[in-house]
Amino acid sequence: MINHPDIPLGHIIPAHQTFGWCAHCPDRTPAEELAAWQTRELRRMVDEARQSESPVHAVPLPGSNGISSCCGRPPCEFVGERVTRDPDAVTCTGPVVSQPDGEA
Ligand SMILES: [Zn+2]
Ligand SMILES: [Zn+2]
Repeated sequence: MINHPDIPLGHIIPAHQTFGWCAHCPDRTPAEELAAWQTRELRRMVDEARQSESPVHAVPLPGSNGISSCCGRPPCEFVGERVTRDPDAVTCTGPVVSQPDGEA
């Protein structure tokens, strides 16, 4: 068995390697660890979906002169790409602009 000096005996090694904590750590519960795994798996699936699919653009809103809010392009340029009315389904990251909250 591989020795993991950073991980206390009896703790869940994959959880420690991934999150730095596990259900056996103080102030942690099995439900918390399960939620962490589920969140991680969900993120991985979303990331994979975004990488494998072409971007989904937002449909132009009324009064926007037919320009999509996500990347400032007209839908006629979205050949072979998808558009959606659901803001949560938009995967287009748009033109590279610096966000006001500091996230690039
Ligand atoms: Zn632990
Ligand atoms: Zn777009």
